Amino acid sequence: MKNMAKPILACDIGGTRIKLGLVRNNRLLAQAEIDAAARSGLALALERIARAAGPLCRKAGVKTSELSGFGLSFPGIIKTRREKILSTPAGKFDDAKYLDVPRIVKNLLGLPTRICNDANAALAGEWLWGAARNYRSAVMMTLGTGIGASAIIEGVPLRGQHGQAGSLGGHLTANLNGQICPCGNIGCAETEASTWALPGHARRYPGFQKSRLARVKNLDYAAVFRVAAKGDRVAIELRNRAIHVWSVALVNLIHAYDPEIVVIGGGIMRSADLILPRVRRYVTKHAWTPWGKVIIKPAELGNTAGMLGVASLFAET
Ligand SMILES: [Zn+2]
Repeated sequence: MKNMAKPILACDIGGTRIKLGLVRNNRLLAQAEIDAAARSGLALALERIARAAGPLCRKAGVKTSELSGFGLSFPGIIKTRREKILSTPAGKFDDAKYLDVPRIVKNLLGLPTRICNDANAALAGEWLWGAARNYRSAVMMTLGTGIGASAIIEGVPLRGQHGQAGSLGGHLTANLNGQICPCGNIGCAETEASTWALPGHARRYPGFQKSRLARVKNLDYAAVFRVAAKGDRVAIELRNRAIHVWSVALVNLIHAYDPEIVVIGGGIMRSADLILPRVRRYVTKHAWTPWGKVIIKPAELGNTAGMLGVASLFAET
């Protein structure tokens, strides 16, 4: 039988949930989710991941002794090839930069570890098996709790001297007069229009108290789009402003990395029907691409892209 590779335990860490999957030959055999409990830190999260590995293996009909590696997709700056987390999202997994993750995983699971920035992992997945397959130069932007970005240029994932090239696309300036971002910069696309930043912007918006949004319990962009569709002025303006910010961010990424295709993913893209035509219109008008038009497509692999992408790192070595 050809190519019966051993399965990889892949893990995609988000701000609120941790997705786990067993990946063999680029296929997810089984998956599960656990709470991130991000404020309790990564060391405890790794212990909970290790405890979840057994049941996940049983679900897939795989012995834990068959696993050959642990792939971690993490929302931070990663020193590539050293498997070291250099920076974490504000207030989440604060202990991560002090941890020797490969050593902890070796002790818990007896497996070698590869760590990848979450946006880089998602683009790897989409590039190999999703919306960006068959393209040599691709950029991905993920719209969610934060804004992630990643670039592959002429078939090579962009990483840079310190592992952060391409992945800070959400922290390119979109508003000179904006607020200070937790990253230190001012008016980043992420501070201007991401799920974590939305409640602050909304509450400060003139007329918010009279808007239907003031009565929404979980104020996210799905709620903004829903209320905007009913004609609420504040929601319409917040929606239009966010789409403007994402479009500006995309032109920045296109000018920086010269992709053939841009893939947009993340939870906010559940409203892709509304977002994509407007983003395409803005990019057609404002991006300097004399060779033609950048293809702009929604992500195809949903929340499995990161797990498939990080598992693919084991094939590289
Ligand atoms: Zn920033």
